[in-house]
Amino acid sequence: MDEIKKLAEMLRQSKDTLVLTGAGISTESGIPDFRSPGTGLWTRMDPMELLSRPALERDPVGFWRRVEPMFRQMAEARPNEGHYALARLEKAGLIRGVVTQNIDSLHQKAGANVVLEVHGHLRSVYCPGCGAEEDMPAFLDRVAAGESLQCRCGQIFRPHVVLFGDQLPECFNTAWRWARVCDLLVVVGSSLEVAPVCWLVPEAKRVAIINMGSTQCDYLAEVVIRGRAGEILPALAAAAGE
Ligand code: NAD
Repeated sequence: MDEIKKLAEMLRQSKDTLVLTGAGISTESGIPDFRSPGTGLWTRMDPMELLSRPALERDPVGFWRRVEPMFRQMAEARPNEGHYALARLEKAGLIRGVVTQNIDSLHQKAGANVVLEVHGHLRSVYCPGCGAEEDMPAFLDRVAAGESLQCRCGQIFRPHVVLFGDQLPECFNTAWRWARVCDLLVVVGSSLEVAPVCWLVPEAKRVAIINMGSTQCDYLAEVVIRGRAGEILPALAAAAGE
């Protein structure tokens, strides 16, 4: 495919390449994204209601019961060829790292070291009162068993995930700085409909997009490759010499 060769050449020329990933890179690991027609979570529920800070504050026990199956599926998923290809590109020095909107830790499970998780992660929960932490898998077992979800201090644990209505973590500032200085930003598997992450894209000097469907920022990209991340990324890594 000519576009893959073109992007591989852009990757080799670039001295500083950043990758921005979204839910689409993990669909081949069995985790539904939000907006794919037919399969996206949005077709079954409204994430802005389910995964919102007001929903958690209004009814924390109900919040945890509703998200438990989805969080468990994400926490137990395994990386796919797309995640592994990006980890290889990082090791080869062809990308600086990944800014991810995903909360599934699949980049790290594939061996990536430089990952900015701008929407948080599912590895643990924390108490908003005293800051105590617990591992997510054990906590999800407590939810499923109907046990108490309270910390010793009396408050209910919450996820390390950025809910609608939450502020983004400090690492978003790093992502912003990196997007501004990079030579090339490669977006993988994101509709780029979620702000402020989508605002990183116009900051980059050059942009490439690998996505099944169209995105909000296709008009900014020199290369747009339509296809599965799990097929395109290994082909890209091979074409770039990795
Ligand atoms: P999105 O659902 O808005 O967009 C996903 C995009 O990926 C779509 O445009 C779709 O065409 C494309 N896509 C689907 N499968 C693909 C594949 N195999 N290869 C290439 N492209 C593919 O997702 P988003 O832009 O990341 O925004 C949704 C928000 O939901 C994010 O903030 C993210 O935190 C959260 N989310 C995360 C996960 C996860 O951690 N795996 C899953 C669902 C939602």
